[in-house]
Amino acid sequence: QPKTIGIVKTPNDPRVCLLPKEVKRLITELKYNVQFEPGLGSSLQIEDSQYIDTGATSVSRQQLFKTSDIILSVNHTYNGEELKDDSLFIGIFNPLFHSSKLNIYKEHSASVFSLDLLPRTTLAQSMDVLSSMASLAGYRAVIKAADLFNGIFPMFTTAAGTLTPAKVLILGAGVAGLQAIATARRLGAVVEAFDVRTSAGEEVRSLGATFVEVEGHTESASAGGYAVEQTEEYKQKQKELIHQHILSANVVISTANIPGRKAPLLIETRSVDAMQAGSVIIDLAAEQGGNCELSKNNEIIVYKGVTILGNSNLSAEISSSASRLLSNNYFSFLKYMSKVEKPDDPLLSASQILNKGQWTHPHFKSTQI
Ligand code: NAD
Repeated sequence: QPKTIGIVKTPNDPRVCLLPKEVKRLITELKYNVQFEPGLGSSLQIEDSQYIDTGATSVSRQQLFKTSDIILSVNHTYNGEELKDDSLFIGIFNPLFHSSKLNIYKEHSASVFSLDLLPRTTLAQSMDVLSSMASLAGYRAVIKAADLFNGIFPMFTTAAGTLTPAKVLILGAGVAGLQAIATARRLGAVVEAFDVRTSAGEEVRSLGATFVEVEGHTESASAGGYAVEQTEEYKQKQKELIHQHILSANVVISTANIPGRKAPLLIETRSVDAMQAGSVIIDLAAEQGGNCELSKNNEIIVYKGVTILGNSNLSAEISSSASRLLSNNYFSFLKYMSKVEKPDDPLLSASQILNKGQWTHPHFKSTQI
């Protein structure tokens, strides 16, 4: 008996987790039945008929929850509807930060996999939603900044005089930060970047930007390549150095995060006070509390002439490209899942939060929310 996959729409997010091309592959290659909520692709101008042409069926949302073995969505959208026994949810649930949203799955004895918990290893690369979305967000942040900034990025030499290139400061040179550096460089800006991981320095320099380092940082081999919390002394030194570099920056793009923790505060109000009017800050860590003291998640504010945009979901603004990548990520995960035989598979264990209503992820097992 083939399993049934149900794809639900995620309200307030124009991204779609599976496009018709990959739905067809689920049906023909992996032998799943696929059903979807009507209007699934409407935000991307994809008609229901395009999904139906692949062999999928359109069913009401209520019916979809009741009859699917595996339910897919971009993020949280389940409100306690009736489920089939042993149903399993797959999405990008940001569980370490939105832990209270998980209770409803537990109450309904569901299993949950969150793709943002996959380890950042070569094996998981094709399913790595964090990388695909961060890469788009880094690009989009620069495009937004170029639009909001009241100057230009490249050097202009004209008969009426020469305009110097914009100075862009990137805080956090992970996936989003590196893509932001590359995009700002392509537009002709002069770019500087900070990161607590010294290993990021080489990548920053290879993109033509200057790497600014604070001495005395902490790294941990067990952090899976992620940053770890720094000492108070380091944080003070870093704030001071960032303050010095912000003084001459026209655009600051901050992307610094520590998994499961509040984002590090890197841009103090006194630094924004010292920026030139017309400058721009894009805070991609806004959902995790923000790298800038003044930023507000999902808001754009103007403080003493400096525009501050807080948005951790900028990939949703380029939803067509984002859905293209997500669709490949989700398909790869489902394909991987269908081939796994060992119960303790490292990728599935790392991304699973609940198994039939029981916590499996160590973070939740120990805190028992
Ligand atoms: P992230 O979103 O968790 O954080 C963004 C960046 O902010 C990171 O580079 C981090 O070091 C930096 N940061 C954290 N605290 C900071 C602070 N106080 N000051 C300045 N910078 C700070 O990171 P990410 O983009 O998701 O990448 C995390 C790691 O995963 C990186 O090492 C990356 O190279 C690695 N990665 C590996 C693969 C793979 O396939 N092997 C794929 C993607 C990412």
